[in-house]
Amino acid sequence: MFEPVLLKNIDMPDGHLLSTYEAGGGYKALAKALNEYTPDEVVELVKQSNLRGRGGAGFPTGMKWSFVPKGADKPKYLCCNADEGEPGTFKDRIIMERDPHQLIEGLAVSAYAIGAETAYVYIRGEYVTAIRRLEQAIAEAHERGYLGSSILGSDFNFAVHIHCGAGAYICGEETAMLESLEGKRAQPRLKPPFPAVAGLYASPTVINNVETLACVPHIVMRGPEWFRDIGPNKSPGPKLYCVSGQVRKPGLYELPMGIPLRELVENHAGGPLPGRRIKAVIPGGVSAPVIPESGLEVGMDFDSLAAAGSMLGSAGVIVVDDSTCMVNVATRIIEFFHHESCGKCTPCREGLNWVVKVLRRIEAGEGEPGDLEQLEMLCKGIFGNTFCALGDGAAMGLRAALKHFRDEFVTHIEERRCPFH
Ligand code: SF4
Repeated sequence: MFEPVLLKNIDMPDGHLLSTYEAGGGYKALAKALNEYTPDEVVELVKQSNLRGRGGAGFPTGMKWSFVPKGADKPKYLCCNADEGEPGTFKDRIIMERDPHQLIEGLAVSAYAIGAETAYVYIRGEYVTAIRRLEQAIAEAHERGYLGSSILGSDFNFAVHIHCGAGAYICGEETAMLESLEGKRAQPRLKPPFPAVAGLYASPTVINNVETLACVPHIVMRGPEWFRDIGPNKSPGPKLYCVSGQVRKPGLYELPMGIPLRELVENHAGGPLPGRRIKAVIPGGVSAPVIPESGLEVGMDFDSLAAAGSMLGSAGVIVVDDSTCMVNVATRIIEFFHHESCGKCTPCREGLNWVVKVLRRIEAGEGEPGDLEQLEMLCKGIFGNTFCALGDGAAMGLRAALKHFRDEFVTHIEERRCPFH
């Protein structure tokens, strides 16, 4: 029987308070890490757990931590990516609003492991409640000695600062986030050097997502075997799935990594709305290629979704039913990427502008023969040729829509109208 751990406090009216968190065993993982493990041993625990980053890329967290140079003469930083701009994704917001101490404890244990004394939480500016709760939680943790100097009588000193973003999707890209934190225009940096070597202020920096950090105290308390035993061995652990769209019970679900997408959507989220049937599901935020209904047996983990031609991404699961026009869906998504393109590289900046124009005319019933071939040519020019993953994500999403729902695009062009409206 799967027991939720990440969401165990979220339905409590005072789940955001330190007293509630402590009553449920909160901050014991920090004490255990400081008293029983060296920093390297904490890194090893996380490595053994096979925890992979929950922000989208799925990179092994312990390995990322181990890239931080030992004994560097510069300060080390921990940055928490709480920008959560991927449409369809709201898991980090819920953790920060309802159980912010879980994140703070995760930050403290992770900072101890990598040798950082300062962390920045880069949080989406629209998350006003989450920002206020985090501020309150940081103050509470300071007062109780979980943050500050000589934490719990050890020689570990640690402070957390909140930085509010101003609404740019590209700040979710880790190096653009570092640029923004440094007060510059948020555009991705060339890698290498990777942030673990030269990140914030050119110092060694680890960047982890909110949900990733929230997993760390549980790994310390329950052990890496417990974590590895949940879901697929290469991609294990409890996982937060954000379900939205045309489904009976949209919401946030904590379930094992690797659960079949069909089980998530039809059993847990209640299935399609009355009288409708599911046409497709976007499994990982709008960067993830759409999966047609026939593919819903796929497991919700990094490797299974990659093998199925999509990706877990941020686990923002968007359900689309048979009343919805896929040309309309594709157009809205590409308009979003076009709007959020930072403009640094030509294939993304110009290519998406061109794609949007073609999609809009197809959607309006003014498409021309050859438009679909032109869209494919544009995707080819964008994919693999952009500076960061934004352009790739847009091209992959459009390619999947053209592959699985080509008939809808063709109908728009041939009938010179949208058959759904
Ligand atoms: Fe900017 Fe788009 Fe290029 Fe990324 S792919 S650097 S968002 S222009």
